Amino acid sequence: MLILASACQSTRHSTSGQASASYVKPKNVILLIGDGMGLPQITGAMYMNNNKTVFERFRHIGFHKSHSADDLVTDSAAGTTAISCGVKTYNGAIGLNAKKERVPTLLELAEKKGFATGMVTTCSMTHATPGAFIGHVENRNMKEDIALGYLETEIDIFIGGGKDHFDRRKDGRNLITELIHKGYTITDFETQDVNNLNFRTDKNIGYFTSNGEPLPAADGRDYLLPAAKKSIDFLRERTQNGFFLMIEGSQIDWGNHDNDLKYMISELHDFEKVIEYVLDFAQEDGETLVIVTADHETGGFTVQPGSKLNAVKPTFATQKHTALMIPVFAEGPGAEAFRGIYENTEIFFKIKNALSL
Ligand code: MG
Ligand code: ZN
Repeated sequence: MLILASACQSTRHSTSGQASASYVKPKNVILLIGDGMGLPQITGAMYMNNNKTVFERFRHIGFHKSHSADDLVTDSAAGTTAISCGVKTYNGAIGLNAKKERVPTLLELAEKKGFATGMVTTCSMTHATPGAFIGHVENRNMKEDIALGYLETEIDIFIGGGKDHFDRRKDGRNLITELIHKGYTITDFETQDVNNLNFRTDKNIGYFTSNGEPLPAADGRDYLLPAAKKSIDFLRERTQNGFFLMIEGSQIDWGNHDNDLKYMISELHDFEKVIEYVLDFAQEDGETLVIVTADHETGGFTVQPGSKLNAVKPTFATQKHTALMIPVFAEGPGAEAFRGIYENTEIFFKIKNALSL
């Protein structure tokens, strides 16, 4: 029994970076975050899609405890910082621990190790979730400061909204000009369609999908899937060293905050198309670890009695976030490590370990 116990220990503690031999190492990691996407939302989206969901393709499933350092109910800043930096912090903190000290993010660690990196979102690039992978600020509302993070790393490709925080700033700086000086090719929705996004692999890429926040999918936003495809193509060609890509379905959260079933479901279905594509890519590629999770649940959503297939009756308990445990789905080399129930901070260590960061 003792021997068995210690064998289990060494597998469980693979986060130390030593005992990882039991898991195959991936070359690439694609992390997909559905903001505000708890199990209830996935359930609702499944019953609104004829009882089918892309999540049925995953074989390695776990749950994370989403609470932050100062509240059982996290916000997206602390919730993402737990995942991106491996620390429990206070609500509102971006890339800082609870003592307001700067902590490195997965994206920054991957950059340092020679991986190509990218982020694709359906919110502004300065919003809490992408912000917590690239920024280090005391409050998530400091969006112009979060934008400065894009000049401090060598992120290879980013696609999302929020151009205003780069070129219409209170400090008068034009970060777009500065990024171009740094060697980026920056384009936007006004000059180019994301489907026609051409890239030279010797240049970093930034593409803005809007000046402020992007539209909801239900109002015509349709770039998440092509942006994910373009980013994967680009990152693959960019380097032989592997890549780290974060893709966020940002507005699932906003549909829940609005207690708007149609808004939430259309965002989740948009996100599921991307998951489907990423799983197909990873299956063919064979070297990519895919992880899908959320920062927290939003809305206290339930499928009410009286609901029928494709006609879900929603109830929302709140317009805020909740403290529900959050599912984690993984496929690809190293996916076994994501089974079980653990703190949200463990996701950081599991990815760090998978890529030997
Ligand atoms: Mg978000
Ligand atoms: Zn929210």
